[in-house]
Amino acid sequence: MEFDLLIRNGTVFDGTGAPPVGADVGVVGDRIEAVGDLSAATARWEVDATGRAVAPGFIDTHTHSDLAWALGPGLEHVAAASVRQGVTTEVCGNCGFSPFPHLPGHRADVGRHLGSLFGAAEAGWQDLDGFAAAARRGGLFANLAPLVGHGGLRAGVMGFEDRPPRDDELAAMKRLLEEAFEQGAFGFSTGLIYTPGAFASTEELIELTGAVRRFGRPYVSHVRGETDMVRGSVEEAIRIGREAGVPVHLSHHKVAGRANWGRTEETLGVIAAARGRGVDVTVDVYPYTAGSTLLSAILPRWAQDGGPERMLERLRDGAVRDRIEADLAGGPPGWENLVRAAGWDGIVVATCPGRPEAEGRSIGELAGPGREAGFVFDLLIEQEGRVTMIVHLMHEADVRRVLGFEAAMIGSDGIPLPGKPHPRWAGTFSRVLGRYAREERLFDLATAIHKMTGLPAQRFGLRGRGRLERGAVADLVVFDPDAVRDRATFEEPLLAPQGVRQVLVGGVAVVADGQLTGARPGQVLTAR
Ligand SMILES: [Zn+2]
Repeated sequence: MEFDLLIRNGTVFDGTGAPPVGADVGVVGDRIEAVGDLSAATARWEVDATGRAVAPGFIDTHTHSDLAWALGPGLEHVAAASVRQGVTTEVCGNCGFSPFPHLPGHRADVGRHLGSLFGAAEAGWQDLDGFAAAARRGGLFANLAPLVGHGGLRAGVMGFEDRPPRDDELAAMKRLLEEAFEQGAFGFSTGLIYTPGAFASTEELIELTGAVRRFGRPYVSHVRGETDMVRGSVEEAIRIGREAGVPVHLSHHKVAGRANWGRTEETLGVIAAARGRGVDVTVDVYPYTAGSTLLSAILPRWAQDGGPERMLERLRDGAVRDRIEADLAGGPPGWENLVRAAGWDGIVVATCPGRPEAEGRSIGELAGPGREAGFVFDLLIEQEGRVTMIVHLMHEADVRRVLGFEAAMIGSDGIPLPGKPHPRWAGTFSRVLGRYAREERLFDLATAIHKMTGLPAQRFGLRGRGRLERGAVADLVVFDPDAVRDRATFEEPLLAPQGVRQVLVGGVAVVADGQLTGARPGQVLTAR
């Protein structure tokens, strides 16, 4: 038998969590053709994997890489930072941010400030099919598995209004949501700290999620609060799934803010109890004690009513600035106050193309005492909202507890942007393998790989992926289990990991001998 590719003498992990076996792996075209003793076979390309791990390509369950293909010239290293770790499929459209669908005449501009950072402010499409065609033309290193974002959907039908939808608007949202599921979306995501997602009631979300029950795909949520309100927010997500009759997946599960440290014991207890009652609930997690999002997410929800332009107008009004500042300093409860949770010194400018000298520095340091809020308002006005931040607000013990949870899989929450983005985009997977599995022995290597392959494939219905077996798609990674580790840091956030040798997407080498080949064989996958 002649294969296109033979990976010889590897330590093969099948993605199920089972212990590895010594075997060869033979690939023909985009499929795994054989696993076992293939010493008699030959191949056009052979890789000696002696002493190395061979695993299914990693599935990143949580990314914001929807528009990474639209990054400008010279930013290839940013878009490719994830695949260099062995990630071959990125679930995108998370936290309610998807760049589709919208009604004619509207824009799915919930992620517009984020989108404009990618240079894709004006999207030339309305639905998933249109987005997928554009992404394919743009060229993908890894596969994309898109979710439909509730924020994009709501903005695309009713704009950024802080009110319940009218009947006709609810009907339009249901129709667009069903259409996106028919076009192959892998689930329905919400981001309930962001506008317009935050304007939605639990009932609205149950109604919409229930409209796509027949597809059996998950409700995926960045819950309403991850600080003081975390327990009720987790319970709300579980209720939405239960009442709508669909599985629930909690995004980047955490508890944030010093006052809440340790409460993952409580939240994981709630989740485990629901699972015990037969509710299908899973989570993903990234291995860092800092988060990252748009800087504008620190503003109270009322300040964002009406959309990004209205928000910027408000920030020019002295009286409004005072009111926001009072809310940030400890105003009314009931919303996610990231400033109170992290403090100004815990909020660091990540990507700010218009003011690169601010990148990597905290608001406390940039503004000086007493001037932080005003500094942020001015920066948002000056940059038209195009600023992301890193927020230091979790405790290591909570991160470890979630990583070790049986129903936890790995999702980077990566935002592929230049500047000083969060290192999770370039480091999450190699950090879990190197630090948490090998060095700290939080779990064994087979379990770590399962959390990146078989488990997420099952959750998101990625057929033919996440398992290394005959007939599966040849999404594969070969790495050195003794050397693999992340090198990305907050100072140098896009450094490629150590120890990842080969990465194949559909049988095509994207990384060979640790270097990018330049190939972009990624597909936009569709759920069926
Ligand atoms: Zn999120």
